Amino acid sequence: MANPSLPDDAVALRRPQGIKPSADAWRVSNCALSRLLAAHRRHLAPAVASARRIRRALAPLIAAMASLNRQTCRFCPEPCCIANTVWFDFRDLLCFHLLEYRLPAQQAATEPGEACPFLGGRGCRLPWHRRPWMCVKYICPTQLARLNRAGRPDPAALDGRIAAIENQRVQVETDVLVGIKPKNRTTPSSALAWPL
Ligand code: SF4
Repeated sequence: MANPSLPDDAVALRRPQGIKPSADAWRVSNCALSRLLAAHRRHLAPAVASARRIRRALAPLIAAMASLNRQTCRFCPEPCCIANTVWFDFRDLLCFHLLEYRLPAQQAATEPGEACPFLGGRGCRLPWHRRPWMCVKYICPTQLARLNRAGRPDPAALDGRIAAIENQRVQVETDVLVGIKPKNRTTPSSALAWPL
């Protein structure tokens, strides 16, 4: 459902699954989002603080996931960066904008069976903190089996970290919506089932 608090261009970011925006649409939509956030910047301090909390919470999670990937990915017969379709979602982009990260040049989504555009010869070319959240948190069946067998990194601790960041991502969206429409908006608008 369209979010009445966002301008048309930004709403256009929320696209049905499987449809990849053109480079132009991606750029235009991100510009619209950037303008919107800039116009309300003075009301967005809580959102920026929430995004910074996510950045801090990501550090130990990334360390654990990177270690897991080093143990498994190079032996994988079916790399998830080819087999799966992933995308930057709205909350990813909110965090990138609020933290003033360099934005991805394009959406990550591909057709099934096509390699992600960010996949290079030695794995993902994006730094961990600028990858789609769905990539960062993904634990494949091989990794899960390894985790359960070895107990390292601690699966319960990983779960807890991921759940905490999920909650903080909801908080970022809530803070943005409150910041751009203080009187009318108090809860997140969407379940974000659509990729950008
Ligand atoms: S963004 Fe990086 S980790 Fe995610 S699918 Fe693409 S190459 Fe893989």
